[in-house]
Amino acid sequence: MIIQDLLKDQIAVVTGGTRGIGYAIVQKFLEQGATVILFGSRQSSAEAAIAKLHSENPEYSVTGLAPDITDLTSVEQTFSQIVKEHKRIDILVNNAGISARDSLYDYSEADFDKIMDLNVKAVWNCTKAVAPYMRDQGSGCIINTSSMVSLYGQPSGCGYPASKFAVNGLTKSLARELGKDHIRVNAVAPGVTRTDMVAALPEDMVSRISADIPLGRIGEPVDIANAFLFLASPLASYITGTILSVDGATQV
Ligand code: NAD
Repeated sequence: MIIQDLLKDQIAVVTGGTRGIGYAIVQKFLEQGATVILFGSRQSSAEAAIAKLHSENPEYSVTGLAPDITDLTSVEQTFSQIVKEHKRIDILVNNAGISARDSLYDYSEADFDKIMDLNVKAVWNCTKAVAPYMRDQGSGCIINTSSMVSLYGQPSGCGYPASKFAVNGLTKSLARELGKDHIRVNAVAPGVTRTDMVAALPEDMVSRISADIPLGRIGEPVDIANAFLFLASPLASYITGTILSVDGATQV
């Protein structure tokens, strides 16, 4: 069954939209009729992603920017520029993120700050910048990328699960705070997903991980993007404050 136009006329911003899960989200949103502004860490990577999307479908309505999302002023200026051009922002996906696996003994303060700046503060910055526009237009949808490690922690690289626990905290708290303004706030918690973030793992390790997953495989970016599409669409109009696991029932 082909479902079309679930996001017709919607204006969406997707951070970390240049590759991996973010790119798949951008693809899904465009397929369903949204106009997407993707954010990358560099303008060149944003342009490369746009060229790839236009090679798939020249009709896609997609542009790209590269603000420093760890800096509130930069984010506020960028959202103001987007609203000037598009008049509104309906959907914000806070997806950009990095991981690290250092043991506590080797973890540098700079690395801990870096992971918190991107995985937590950037989510807060983008949400803070977009919320007034969503409140004034009377509706909005914010979806954050969490992780399955936000449920279990992990045995090394404590900064990464700590950052995703914080993402869940922002999601649940802001759903309660912003509901009165008709802004829904949810998160998707992916399991191990085939992107650059896991490309460094040897294939035999991926096979071992897959064997422990009840559905027998790791996730593909499109599996995760489908959950974002659902939460962004009118089908999820009464869902807010949810952390939706998309992990094949992984248990660790
Ligand atoms: P990826 O490395 O393929 O993509 C990361 C994205 O974040 C890229 O678009 C990149 O441009 C952007 N980014 C990185 N540093 C940035 C910076 N300083 N400023 C702005 N943007 C920056 O990774 P992915 O696997 O697609 O990860 C996307 C999200 O999914 C992350 O939040 C990650 O924590 C989460 N996640 C991934 C997995 C997995 O197994 N791949 C599992 C659970 C959660």
